[in-house]
Formats: sequence, C-alpha cells, structure tokens
Amino acid sequence: MIIPTITALRQQVREAKQKGLIVGFVPTMGALHAGHRQLMETARRECGFLVVSIFVNPLQFDRADDLARYPRTLDADRALCASAGVDVIFAPTANELYPEEQKTFVDVPDLTENLCGAFRPGHFRGVATVVLKLFGIVQPDRAYFGQKDAQQLAVIDRMVRDLNVPVEIVPVPTIREPDGLALSSRNKHLSPAERQTAPALYRALSLAAEQIASGERSAPLIRENALRFLCHHPEIRVEYFELVDPLTLQPLVEISGPVLIAAAAWLGSTRLIDNIAGDFRSPNRTITV
Ligand code: AMP
Repeated sequence: MIIPTITALRQQVREAKQKGLIVGFVPTMGALHAGHRQLMETARRECGFLVVSIFVNPLQFDRADDLARYPRTLDADRALCASAGVDVIFAPTANELYPEEQKTFVDVPDLTENLCGAFRPGHFRGVATVVLKLFGIVQPDRAYFGQKDAQQLAVIDRMVRDLNVPVEIVPVPTIREPDGLALSSRNKHLSPAERQTAPALYRALSLAAEQIASGERSAPLIRENALRFLCHHPEIRVEYFELVDPLTLQPLVEISGPVLIAAAAWLGSTRLIDNIAGDFRSPNRTITV
C-alpha cells in the first residue's frame, strides 16, 4: 500500500503499535535494488510492521542536475516492496514534507567534514534533517541503514545518540554484483564500458585491505598504492580515497586497529562511492560501523 500523506501514515503506525507490533523502518530514495531488498528482508525478520519510505529529498542534493536525473521507478519499487513483505510504502511529495521553507536543520560537525562531506556541501545536513523528520513521522522502533553509505550511517547513529531519538539504528552489510561493484541506484547511469571499469574501485579498496593483512601499517603508503592501481584506469577520476577511524571518520596515519577504507570516484558523469571496514590486521575479523 502506498501512502502519500503524513496523517494516513501516522494512523497506520498507530494501529500497528496498538497491536503490539515492533515497527521497522527503511528510508530510501527509490530506484530500489537488491541492496535495498537486503535492508527490507533484515527488517522483515525483526519487526512485526515494516514501513519503507521512498522520497528523493531535494535538501540533500548539492547539484540540481543530480536531483533532476535521479532515477524514479515507482511501479517497479512497489513490486519489489510487495515481494519483500513491506506493509506500507510512505511516498510523500516534496510539498508534503516541506510545506513551508525548512528553517530547522540538523548539523553533525566533524563527522561530516571529510570524505563525501568535503565534496558535497550541505549533503549530510540535508540527510540528517530529513531522516529526523521521517523518524518523527514514522516513529519506528528500529531503522535500517546500509553500510554502503558508511558516513551517512555514522552521522545518523551520532544524531540519534546526541538527540536521544528513541530508535535503534541497525547497520546492514553492502550487497555487491558478482564482480564486486556495490549495488547503487546510480549504476543505471553507467555506459556498458563504464560498467566494465567500475569494479576497479572495489578492487582498489580490497587491495588496501590486503596490504594491511600482509603487515603494512602506513596509511599514506597504502593509499598511495591504491591510487597507483587506479591510475591503470584513467576513466576513473578519484574524488577521495581515505583510510579513517570507523567511528570518528578522522584520517589515520598508522593502522593499529579497525579501519574504514572509503572512496568516491567519477566514471563519466556518474559518481560512485564504496567502502570496506574491518580489522584487517587479522583476516576474518570484520567489524560493523
Ligand atoms: P538510497 O536509496 O540510495 O538513499 O539508499 C537507501 C538505503 O539503502 C541506505 O541506507 C543505503 O545505505 C542502502 N543501500 C544502498 N545501496 C546498498 C547496497 N548496495 N547494499 C546495502 N545497502 C544499500
């Protein structure tokens, strides 16, 4: 069932809570794929009532062209949600969520200053603000976020702790294509040639993790080696490639524990992001960020 209004959505959630059901929530921007499905299936297992939101949030787009060409596939999204056992799709218009100019914003400094935050001014302010609005509307017990967007996850987790928002944030691992490319709604924009090249980003991340596993401890050296590897693919324009602390997101110099290896790169007019996280000093010890 697609619900476009806040009032009707609140009514549905109220009824579910009256029945004693745990309310799970998966916020998305639509153009749903197997990565989103993984979030829904995880939530479905853990919650009695499952809400998915589909909203392309203008507040978090730093470029008008990116907002305009963001894929919108509501019919297919509805089918995917139905097959994943979603109870309600909340798909408001921009006017429903922002009936008047938004004056109140959520800023999470430090965590939003590097990685994507350095290249997308205002992006995480837009994300944190809309997620807090959606939490106020849906009032979920548990909300599910992909580790694919590790910085977003860290920002939301911090916001919820700082503002005592009564919701449990559940991280879900990244779903990839067989060749390693992380699923993303933006992959639709890749040309066949770009699609062939795109998995090199994940290979560079894996290469960095392998170096740590083989004993290298210098983050700048590991970064340099990964960038050298990516030079073999001149079509890939690296925006950043960083080794950071998984909780503070601050750059590391010496690897002495868990690390988040995160990168963003452009292929033609498509921006890809990806990351891997773990304590790669001892293989098989991955962590959750
Ligand atoms: P989006 O629709 O891109 O805003 O993403 C909605 C949610 O799906 C976010 O929590 C993302 O981190 C998550 N997500 C997107 N791609 C993947 C993926 N490949 N694997 C797991 N989660 C993902």
